[in-house]
Amino acid sequence: MEKRKYDVVIVGGGASGLAAAVELGMSSPDLSVLVIEKMAEPGRKIRATGSGRCNITNTKAAGYNRIMEFFTRIGLVTRAYENGLVYPYSESAADVAELLIARAKSLGIKFCCGEEVLGIKKDSEFEIESVYRDEKGEHKVITEADYVILATGGKAGPTYGTTGDGYRIAREFGHNIVTPVPVLTGVECKEWEEGAVALGGTRMQGVVSLYKKATGDTPIFQEAGEVQFTKYGLSGICVFNMTRCMRLDRDKGEGLDDFVVRINLFPEGNLSDYIYALKNGEFSEMPAGEILRTVLKASLADYIADRIDKEKPVSALDEEGIQKICKLVHFMEFHPMRLRGWKDAQATSGGVSLEEIDERTSESKIVPGLYITGELADKDFQCGGFNLSNAWITGLGAADDIADKC
Ligand SMILES: Cc1cc2nc3c(=O)[nH]c(=O)nc-3n(C[C@H](O)[C@H](O)[C@H](O)COP(=O)(O)OP(=O)(O)OC[C@H]3O[C@@H](n4cnc5c(N)ncnc54)[C@H](O)[C@@H]3O)c2cc1C
Repeated sequence: MEKRKYDVVIVGGGASGLAAAVELGMSSPDLSVLVIEKMAEPGRKIRATGSGRCNITNTKAAGYNRIMEFFTRIGLVTRAYENGLVYPYSESAADVAELLIARAKSLGIKFCCGEEVLGIKKDSEFEIESVYRDEKGEHKVITEADYVILATGGKAGPTYGTTGDGYRIAREFGHNIVTPVPVLTGVECKEWEEGAVALGGTRMQGVVSLYKKATGDTPIFQEAGEVQFTKYGLSGICVFNMTRCMRLDRDKGEGLDDFVVRINLFPEGNLSDYIYALKNGEFSEMPAGEILRTVLKASLADYIADRIDKEKPVSALDEEGIQKICKLVHFMEFHPMRLRGWKDAQATSGGVSLEEIDERTSESKIVPGLYITGELADKDFQCGGFNLSNAWITGLGAADDIADKC
């Protein structure tokens, strides 16, 4: 069995692990620091963020100034948009990952990639058990360390290495885990079994509202934005954000059928004003189905037209007929059946209980010297650079605390 010794071991070379590594390299050059990453290279998920552009932070994110100070110091040029979203100036997520790795290496941080941490014990110091494979077979390694930063991420996007290993490791240290569920993901809806599949590929601006049976007509979530109708159901940033409100309390018998999604596809006005104007105008013989064509994308117009008396002339529509059309456009209803799973999710809701982690430093309140950073903790945020911000700031906080202690 191979043995080695470092002052600090960082488990996971993702966003929070790399931020911690670089910061430790800059603040504490005398410390020996090792990053153990189970994928063949660090930062796989960073490369996939923001559809390859990396929405690195948000001007409204907690710790924004500290995050920007860090990235400016390591030489990343960024651009902030009016809506607060911040991207690398090159618009390349790979550049962000490469820069972090290059800076860490130049500061003397060691990396062992393709090596998976299996478990961690603590006696007087930490003992990290890991395994790597090469042409000669499987090799077990024990690494001793004074400090461990557990930066293994959650379970979202398992193809990037995040398969929930950190939960098991934290649990073995006595931590409680709030059941992880996938969020920032698409929603499969019942209507797709009833013809809505024809909407696949349509994008349209709208206001998405989520209702829960128990709360009646008061939405528990509402957001305007681009709704994407996919081949399986609903997607888009506002739908992703909505999934953060769809956590179920199974003990109370809650299921996804407790939710209803309503989309207002004409939020700027009242469709009935428009229909009455047509009804009283010179083109009142226009078929009802055609009204929709000027307001909605063709596939949506056709989908709704199939649910009304579409051949009826506008002149013949009574109040009930007009309200039926308006309801379908202003409150287009969908019934969630399933959330897309871990593979498609961009974040994890749940994780290591926040009550057991120091908010400022990310140090475990149960195991001194163990830091739990990034998505592994029970924190998740809306789209817009907030999840990466949390990863950067918790990684930096852990590095600062270790530097203070050494
Ligand atoms: C497709 C996609 C796009 C996204 N886009 C954005 C965006 O634009 N903006 C934003 O703010 N957020 C975005 N996110 C979310 C964001 O990427 C994560 O919240 C963030 O990366 C979490 O950082 P982390 O350090 O906790 O974990 P990660 O960055 O997930 O890194 C964890 C690392 O630990 C490694 N690891 C896991 N287990 C072990 C083990 N046993 N041994 C060794 N290594 C291990 C993994 O291989 C991985 O490299 C996106 C997520 C996805 C999936």
